[in-house]
Amino acid sequence: MTSGTWDLCVLGAGPAGYAAAMRAHDLGKRVVMVEQARVGGAGVHAGALSSKTMWHLSNDFACASATDRGYRPIGGLDVSYAMVIESVRAAVTERRTLLERQLERLARPSERGGVVTTVRGTARFVSPTAVEVRRSDGTLEKIEATNFLVATGSKPRVPEGMPVDGDLVVTSDQIEAFPHFPESMVIVGAGVIGCEYATVFSNFGRTKINIIDRQPRILPFEDEDVAEEVASSFEGAGVTIHRSSKLESLRVVDGKVEYVITDAAGKAETIRVERALVSIGRVPNTRDLGLEAIGVKVEKNGSIAVTDTRSTVPNIYAAGDVTMDIALVNVAELEGRYAVEAMFGLKPRLIHYEALSAIMFLRPEVASVGLNETKAKEQKIPYRVGVVGNELVSRNIAMRSTKGFVKLLAARDDDRILGLRVVGPQASSTIQGIAFLIHMGATLDDIDQCVHPHPAIPEAVQECARMLLGRSVLKPEVWMADGLLRCAEG
Ligand SMILES: Cc1cc2nc3c(=O)[nH]c(=O)nc-3n(C[C@H](O)[C@H](O)[C@H](O)COP(=O)(O)OP(=O)(O)OC[C@H]3O[C@@H](n4cnc5c(N)ncnc54)[C@H](O)[C@@H]3O)c2cc1C
Repeated sequence: MTSGTWDLCVLGAGPAGYAAAMRAHDLGKRVVMVEQARVGGAGVHAGALSSKTMWHLSNDFACASATDRGYRPIGGLDVSYAMVIESVRAAVTERRTLLERQLERLARPSERGGVVTTVRGTARFVSPTAVEVRRSDGTLEKIEATNFLVATGSKPRVPEGMPVDGDLVVTSDQIEAFPHFPESMVIVGAGVIGCEYATVFSNFGRTKINIIDRQPRILPFEDEDVAEEVASSFEGAGVTIHRSSKLESLRVVDGKVEYVITDAAGKAETIRVERALVSIGRVPNTRDLGLEAIGVKVEKNGSIAVTDTRSTVPNIYAAGDVTMDIALVNVAELEGRYAVEAMFGLKPRLIHYEALSAIMFLRPEVASVGLNETKAKEQKIPYRVGVVGNELVSRNIAMRSTKGFVKLLAARDDDRILGLRVVGPQASSTIQGIAFLIHMGATLDDIDQCVHPHPAIPEAVQECARMLLGRSVLKPEVWMADGLLRCAEG
């Protein structure tokens, strides 16, 4: 039932499109959401949820296999890639079913008139007020709406000449199709996704991982101490990082992947591995949407040009990866909801990207909110930074996991909290409190005054704040020389 003019047509049922449709439902709007593949997008499939399931399983496996904590896995633990993927599929199905069940219910109009209808097919604009949807059986359907939200997401970037065949050379879209754990794998690209898969495969201990990094260090957007902590943990687990290396060629030879790299001095090396993962960023899905023909500006990198989610055509909005600002589920959802509130005249508060939190599922886990030192320097913001090493934190000691640190940034002039980096277990649950405080403009004193639970990782954040205020329990003059506490200005 897609006849008549809809209040909103959403293109894509990933995190941005789904969240937008739900917000429009709250407002009693008639919504049609077009999805060409699977509800949930990369938030669920071959993306956030599936890769996190792999990460959790691999972490559990690494912990259970550890021999430094008073128990020994007699005869070693067994694991197969097929078993891991079975669990990943179970998680993905669970989440997708949940999203679909909600859609089934919302297909019936609410008391306020809100309704969300899902149409399967590939949408393409034919005018600023209509899209044509091609179904898998080739039939076409025209959908007319007053407003549109483009939430078609992104796909892995594959450079020309890279022999991605979905078997020996894959992107993150195809990695779950491996028939077994590869004996060896090269990961091209040392960004978040590449490093997350390096973590997963090295945790399972069945695959020798090499990472090619064009820069001198991995995670170039993060502070050096954060990137180095992760790199040294990788190397400790047997991962080889080809630093400052240029990939000259990568091809399949006799059923193996052969690649040639040159290092900073220009010395070439040829290496053979079983498989390759190409992970060098993502490109927005805008190519076949007919956007330019109806006046929507598309940037050179393929992203839709937006001002606060509005495109250059007044009734057409865009949210999520398709705008290529920040590729995260939480940001996609926030932008989708914002766009709906804006298009239906609610005057939403502008999205504050400065208190953005993100997690990197690495070894160790890294979580971030707000500014880091690198960005504070770039933006010439005077700051003070306090760092507490996990060796000093009761909870880390109890967990027998003392690698990593907590690092808090505050404004030099008024002690306003600017950002936090947590490197170590439970990093992801430690940042959210600070995200709220940044959002509210809180100061170091606010952290000091708040009663924290014990033993808990946030106590390390409190110690950072106290250290910057000159009243910490652990004293810099004792622990600074060992590198376990650090206080600095920038
Ligand atoms: C391996 C991996 C791990 C990740 N891990 C995390 C993480 O831990 N945390 C996090 O926050 N983010 C993570 N991300 C990023 C996150 O998945 C994306 O930022 C998020 O899914 C973007 O949401 P979106 O709605 O903009 O796009 P998508 O999720 O890409 O959804 C877009 C949808 O639009 C559909 N579509 C495309 N074209 C059309 C068309 N013409 N007609 C109809 N439908 C169409 C697609 O089929 C898709 O379902 C990860 C991504 C990957 C690839």
